[in-house]
Order: sequence, then structure tokens, then C-alpha cells
Amino acid sequence: MTPLIYWFRNDLRLHDNPALVQACAQSDALLPVYCLGSASAIHNGDTRWGVMQPGMHRQRVLLDSLIDLDAQLRAMGSALTVVYGPATDMLPKLARAVDATAIHCESIAATHEQSELDQLQHTGVEVVSRWQSTLFEPDDLPFKVQDLPAVYTQFRRALTCAQVRPVVPLPAPTQLPPLPETAHGYATVNLADELAKLGHNSPEPRSSLPYLQAEFTGGERAGLAHLARYFASDLPRHYKATRNGLTGTDFSSKLSGWLASGALSARQVAQTISNYEQREGPNEGTEWLLLELLWRDYFRLLHLQYGDKLFRYRGLRDKVPPIHHDPALFTRWCLGRTTEPLVDAAMHELLASGYLSNRLRQVVASYLIHELHGDWRAGAAWFEAQLIDYDVYNNQGNWLYIAGMGTDPRGGRRFNVQKQAQDHDPDQSYQKLWHQV
Ligand SMILES: Cc1cc2nc3c(=O)[nH]c(=O)nc-3n(C[C@H](O)[C@H](O)[C@H](O)COP(=O)(O)OP(=O)(O)OC[C@H]3O[C@@H](n4cnc5c(N)ncnc54)[C@H](O)[C@@H]3O)c2cc1C
Repeated sequence: MTPLIYWFRNDLRLHDNPALVQACAQSDALLPVYCLGSASAIHNGDTRWGVMQPGMHRQRVLLDSLIDLDAQLRAMGSALTVVYGPATDMLPKLARAVDATAIHCESIAATHEQSELDQLQHTGVEVVSRWQSTLFEPDDLPFKVQDLPAVYTQFRRALTCAQVRPVVPLPAPTQLPPLPETAHGYATVNLADELAKLGHNSPEPRSSLPYLQAEFTGGERAGLAHLARYFASDLPRHYKATRNGLTGTDFSSKLSGWLASGALSARQVAQTISNYEQREGPNEGTEWLLLELLWRDYFRLLHLQYGDKLFRYRGLRDKVPPIHHDPALFTRWCLGRTTEPLVDAAMHELLASGYLSNRLRQVVASYLIHELHGDWRAGAAWFEAQLIDYDVYNNQGNWLYIAGMGTDPRGGRRFNVQKQAQDHDPDQSYQKLWHQV
């Protein structure tokens, strides 16, 4: 008998999960585990800005995703063991309890997640990790990861010229190894109780991603249903024209929550785009959507290339002028109490719903960095706590980009708030909608 542990991280799905498929193939008993304590680390968390814990929206979506995963595993004769505590403490204990010979998981190239793997390895447990969250295998790229182009457009062109194709997604396993015998009865967190602790909330009717409504709830099955629904409509065809919208569920794909938790993989989305184009013909909308998924890959590869450097204030710059982060101004920004109505409305939306359009994420990030002269890591930490689609690579990458501390030699991105309001909210309907939290 070869019992293994499969440690679910940001891959809360059964479809297109090569690391899980590999663990199933190599074991005759498998304990699927999720460590709730590991998910509560805030990468940019710092007592200086007082953001240390994920907020209610993020917690809720995570719990819904875990409940869905557990239900799917149970339907296949297995179950998800959810433990509370850091993976580095909990996984070695579980491995001993079930005599597991190794822990399998996906690899995540971010400071905290990488150090979890390193610490686990030091405990003497064998850890087998697999990179699987990009569209492309790093080895298929026309350049080495260390030679990733410094500008996104060069990256995109290099891929187009080399005609690299996204990896074809895998089906879900048809059967899972049984649970190790000693696993039965191992104390697992009761997810329904955890959900109840968050209290009862009704859907926010103004939200563009109302995750409390059944169609937008966390978890793989809702994600697959949304993917099918979105690509059965003509919304993808119009994506390029609508993607800078501010309100409503239709202006962008709203796939981010599922992609961030790994309930859906980017490879599944790319394949669905390709099927749509075969059916409907090539069009600007889906072409543009794929370009956004390429940004997602770009930021992942940037983390593979630079690792910890992306988490320091100066990012990839050698030297930066000192800044004077004002905690009082930062708090006003978080709560939507600045002197800019568009920024305030956006911060109200984020606080009340856990989601914000890409356009407004750019505007409020630029405002904190370039107008309030705040520390970008404080803004990144606030987003990290609030966003239901929080993704370490996308969040870190976008904040660095706007701050001008990433690879792009052209410096930061400064948005004129009044012009943005005129261009994107000329009748102030968005500002009126989110006048209050
Ligand atoms: C300061 C800042 C912080 C951000 N933090 C996050 C984050 O934590 N998690 C996150 O998923 N996205 C983040 N983004 C990127 C983007 O705003 C969201 O992915 C997008 O708004 C999600 O909505 P959607 O799925 O409808 O996007 P769509 O426009 O439909 O895009 C489809 C998918 O492409 C990817 N994508 C789109 N835009 C970007 C981008 N600029 N960078 C990287 N990938 C992109 C996402 O996976 C998204 O789900 C951030 C952007 C900014 C400016």
C-alpha cells in the first residue's frame, strides 16, 4: 500500500489538474487535504498598515469552493480533509497519521508559498510539486524563463512568432484512490460551521460579481457552468468593446474568482475560447480575452524569474527615492474617504462586494501611489484582503507595474482621475451607484 497526501492549494478542482492525476497514478490510497491556516497569510501584510487577515468576501468564496470540492470528492468515494493551521505543521502530522510516503501538490512561485514547500522538505517529508498554473509549459516557451522579455508586448510577440499553443487541458480523473484506512475519523474542520461563523449575508445587488448568487458562487461546478454560459452567449465577441465597463455582470468575463482559486484553469478557458472561435469564427473579442490570459501568464513567469524581489518596496529597481507613506491617508483611501468621488465610489464597491473592474483597480492603485504617495505594498495588501479573485501573481504584478517597480523600463502608470471619470463615467451613474458602501 502506498498512501500519499494530495495537498490542494490554488488548484481547487478535479478537471485539468495534472498534479492530482499524477498523485492518483502513484498511490493506492490518497488523502486529499486543504490547510485553512496557510490561506490566511497576507503576503504584503504589515502592522504598519494594519492589514493582516483576509476579509469576509474572500473567506466566503474560499469556503464555498472547498464545500464544492469536498462534495465532488465524496461523490467519488473520497473526501476532503480540511485542517486549521499552517501546512508546515499540519501536513507532517497528517503524513505520520496515515503513513503517507509523500505529499503531492502544485507549485506556487511566491515567497510565502515557496517557503512552505522548503520548510516541509526540511521536516523530512518527501514533497512532489508540479508547475501547472500557466497556459504554457515553461519549457515550451521560445526563451528561457530567466530571459523573459522585460515588456509584455515583446513577450506576446515572441509567443505569437513561435506559434506556441496552450497546453491541452486534462479531463477529471474517472476514479480516485480510496482514503487511507487510518484517515477515517481524522478531525476535519466543519466547513458549514465555518460558513455559519461568517454570518448570513444577502447578495449585494449592485455588485458586478455577486458571488452570493448561485451562478457566481465559488467552486468548480459553478465555474464550469459559468464558463459554458459565457461562451454560449455573444458576450465574448464584444469583449474588446465592453471590457472597460464599470458596472454589471456582462462587461468582462467574470472568470477571475474561479481562476484565482483554481476552480477553473486558464488552459480550460483557452480551450473554450478556441472552440468558440472554431464555431463563431475568429473575432477581436476572444482574441483580446486571450491577451488578458497572457498577462496572467506573464506575471506568473515574472515570479518564476524574480521570486522574492517582487515583494520588496523597490521591486526590481536598484534605487528608489524615499516615500512618506501616511497611514491616515491610507485608511481614508481604504474606506473611500478621499477627496475624489470616483476613487471613493470604487473603494466602496471593493469594500461592499470584494470585486472591482480592471479599469477602477488601475485608477485607485494609481491614486494611492502617485497622488497620495502611499506605499504600493499597503495597497496590494488591502486588495489581497478584499478581493474575491485575489491572485498573488496578478496582484503583485499589477501593483508593481503601476508603481513602476517591475520590469517595464517605461516607468509607472499614472491615471488622471478626472479624465478617467469623464471618459468612463460621464453621467456619474457609477459614482451615484456607489456613493455609499
Ligand atoms: C492593481 C491591480 C490589482 C489586481 N489584482 C488582481 C488579483 O488579485 N487577481 C486577479 O485575478 N486579477 C487582478 N487584477 C487584474 C484584473 O483587474 C482582473 O483580473 C479582472 O478585473 C478580473 O475580472 P474578469 O475576470 O472579468 O476579467 P477579464 O477582463 O474578463 O479577463 C479575463 C481573465 O484574464 C486575466 N486578466 C485580466 N486582466 C488582467 C491583468 N491586468 N493582469 C493579469 N491578468 C489579467 C484574469 O485572470 C481574468 O479573469 C489586478 C489589476 C490591477 C490593476
